[in-house]
This record gives sequence, structure tokens and C-alpha cells, in this order.
Amino acid sequence: MSKKPPTINEATCGTSSGYTIHHRRGESPCGPCLAARRDYDRRRWAVKRASVAIEDGVRVPAIDFAELYLAAPIELQDRLDKRLGTITIDALIKAYDAYIDSTQKDRAS
Ligand SMILES: [Zn+2]
Repeated sequence: MSKKPPTINEATCGTSSGYTIHHRRGESPCGPCLAARRDYDRRRWAVKRASVAIEDGVRVPAIDFAELYLAAPIELQDRLDKRLGTITIDALIKAYDAYIDSTQKDRAS
């Protein structure tokens, strides 16, 4: 059975979960989803090869994560926006801004 052509979804295409959505619909993956899935598989393979239990990621304090996000190249920020959702990213940035404000008030006083 041949697969249906991919339905492009701006919100999920270009992610590994977008690849899974195409698969569930019986569609061929679009190019960006296929590339994202290959990248996901490569990451998993690299982590597995390192034989360290970090397959599900690492825990990073929220403020440190926000600082890393803000320093990240735009391509990485876009990927994190898709993975975590803009509501979560916006909340992290807001918390980071509040933290910076409070540290600057401490220095001023
Ligand atoms: Zn896609």
C-alpha cells in the first residue's frame, strides 16, 4: 500500500512529532519532518552510545534554561519554541526577566 502525500501543518512540520503524525495518518513524511526524525534518531543514537542515562534529556534550572535560550541561535530558539510551546517559553523568559530585575535592584540598593 502506497502512502498518501503529506499534509503540511505549520505548527508540527519540521519536528519529530510531526513525523509521527504523518505516519499515523498513513502519509509519507514531508522533507522537514523526515529531516527532524533523522536528527532525533541521530541524537538518540549518540546518547545511547555514550551509555549514560540521559535519554530523556537533562534537568536544568528554569532561569539557567531561559538564559541559554536567549543566547541560542534563532534556529535553535525556533526548535525549542516548537518543542516546548510558546506559552512555556514566554513564561520562562518572563521569570528570567523578573529574576534579572530583582538582581539589579539588589545591586542598586
Ligand atoms: Zn511534516
